[in-house]
Amino acid sequence: MAKITLDNLAHSYLPNPKSEDDFALKELNHDWVDGEAYALLGASGCGKSTLLNIISGLLHPSQGRILFNDVDVTDAPTAQRNIAQVFQFPVVYDTMTVRENLAFPLRNRGADPAYIAQRVSQIAAMIGMEAELDRKARGLTADSKQKISLGRGMVREDVNALLFDEPLTVIDPHMKWELRTQLKSLHHEFGHTMIYVTHDQTEALTFADKVVVMYDGRVVQIGTPQELFERPAHTFVGYFIGSPGMNLFDASVEGPRATIGGVSFDLDAAYRPKGGSVQIGVRPEFIRLGSDNGLPARITRVEDVGRHKIVRLDVQGNAVSAIAAEGAAIPTDTTRIAFDPRGVNVYADDWRVKAEGGLA
Ligand code: ADP
Ligand code: MG
Repeated sequence: MAKITLDNLAHSYLPNPKSEDDFALKELNHDWVDGEAYALLGASGCGKSTLLNIISGLLHPSQGRILFNDVDVTDAPTAQRNIAQVFQFPVVYDTMTVRENLAFPLRNRGADPAYIAQRVSQIAAMIGMEAELDRKARGLTADSKQKISLGRGMVREDVNALLFDEPLTVIDPHMKWELRTQLKSLHHEFGHTMIYVTHDQTEALTFADKVVVMYDGRVVQIGTPQELFERPAHTFVGYFIGSPGMNLFDASVEGPRATIGGVSFDLDAAYRPKGGSVQIGVRPEFIRLGSDNGLPARITRVEDVGRHKIVRLDVQGNAVSAIAAEGAAIPTDTTRIAFDPRGVNVYADDWRVKAEGGLA
């Protein structure tokens, strides 16, 4: 297992990158703590696979270094990095049986046959393929083949890190939950450093201790699910995480007072955003309906989603979502909305502004 350090890392697929726009991965400095389970979350095309392939050595970065336990491995080939990587689509040996496929990484390293047999049956149980161990991989469904790929990725206990690149894409929905739970228990048992790439926030938030959010080639926030929910560092994090995502309002902020569309209210602390476009971000969970002197709003739709209701509003021409408790009285047409000060974040040019003198 290893701590993985990214030192001034950046990557462009172009031979002569000129501007930042030419980089699929913008400059990044980060330590992946040994033994932690990370999710790498972001929309398609934001650079997740690029970063993962640089860590595993499939791709040589155009700038910067990568270190495993403080040893520079930037020029080391994949095999020397001792990493297991599972891809979006199955990589299996069709002519081998399921058992041989699972045993392959261990045989390759000259492991003891008794250990191999024991470990292979353990992994087969985890991926739910004990009954198919003696079948050839050829002829199995894509779903089964991907389970074999996952099993092969998990079979070695001595790897530096386990990297998963959207590994459940071709897996049946009901099996996804099961396999994700297995990956989590594998992490608890062996404590590998794990990086799990996904574009699905539910997958990321349920799998990981820490979520690394990427947007347009840049890591915009690294935090616990709670930090991403309460203090989104970038408006993208607020919008991408949460269901519905964070609401954004154009605002002016002076110290402890904010004004949106002519209505002023108190913040929980003083903020001095510098320049640029200033916005207030409020998650739907922190919007209160029926306030006496809040922002005028018109209710456009109410969606009952079981545990609570999602109330869609029009606020000065902008779509806003609020969450109301199940059973709460909801005004019928027009109302005024107010914000719970604990749930208010201030942004300047999309980046969160820290409160003056505050810790966060
Ligand atoms: P993600 O895995 O988040 O979907 P990728 O890392 O695959 O994103 O891609 C990031 C960006 O780099 C995209 O704009 C993609 O088109 C580009 N890209 C990926 N692979 C290559 C490649 N081999 N050559 C050129 N551009 C690439
Ligand atoms: Mg990808």
